[in-house]
Amino acid sequence: MKKVFLLFISCALANFANAQRSVSVTIDDVPNTRLYQLQNFSSPLQQKLDSLQIPVAIFINEGNLEQTTALEKNRNLLKSWLSKSYVTAGNHGFAHKNYAEVGLEAFKEDVIKGEVLTKSFLKEFNKESRYFRFPYNGAGNDSLEQLTAQKFLKEKNYISTPFTVESEDWLHAILYDKALAENDRKRAEWIGDQYVNLTLKLFSHFDSLSVSIYNRPIRQIYLCHDNSLNADYLPRIVDELKNKNYEFVSLDNALLDPVYQSQLYYYGKAGFSWIYKWMPDVAARRKLMRSEPSNPEIQKAFEDLNKQK
Ligand SMILES: [Zn+2]
Repeated sequence: MKKVFLLFISCALANFANAQRSVSVTIDDVPNTRLYQLQNFSSPLQQKLDSLQIPVAIFINEGNLEQTTALEKNRNLLKSWLSKSYVTAGNHGFAHKNYAEVGLEAFKEDVIKGEVLTKSFLKEFNKESRYFRFPYNGAGNDSLEQLTAQKFLKEKNYISTPFTVESEDWLHAILYDKALAENDRKRAEWIGDQYVNLTLKLFSHFDSLSVSIYNRPIRQIYLCHDNSLNADYLPRIVDELKNKNYEFVSLDNALLDPVYQSQLYYYGKAGFSWIYKWMPDVAARRKLMRSEPSNPEIQKAFEDLNKQK
């Protein structure tokens, strides 16, 4: 009897491990025009995505077009992103302003200013921009501020876009770029490996969470950024996730998961995973956040770098 039971458990675990999972990749702070200029006006991330052939949603800061003087080229870069059939476009504010800091009027202005070029380019490709993602994922300081912003976004026909998994790619990217600038290839590769490993651990963490809370793997939304780290390592993450039976789906598809209609229980300004924001029990949420995989070595390297500055 005991043997049969153990067999049942191991089969159940195997099924859980092999269950079909899905994820939508979303890339914020597009286009990275500084990197574009450094790379002789090419976008290695876009080139990698061309060959990966997975759907991605990009969240655009049109203000990035003014970060270098190559305005015309930068506009063409944005247009090139929007022309790709695998790209869903979203607005991320013109100047990436934090609503919780700048207030409603400045926020509204940033949203409206942030859609002008995108909309005109998208028309040429018969596409629409329906998504908005809050810069810093801070949707306001409290429930009233959040409701006011949501009402405004709804009037503008925007869907506010959550995420469920992120792995501080931006922090790894700063360390990665520094290692590359110092010609320390070995360290750069080490940082890349750490990024891939942490990302995979976080996928497992949020998958286990979704199974324990919702009794099934939910359709995840991964948040990362337009940087050289992802140009070099996102393909590996995609490969590894495919090995774990992940299917890569569009943002539209991911958002069909009813989990995205869940009630919010967190109305603060912190931009953490929505899986935590949907948890009514504050103590349980905090406990799970503390159990989240992290990498002390990378954290320390980042702190040391900040101290040097
Ligand atoms: Zn951003």
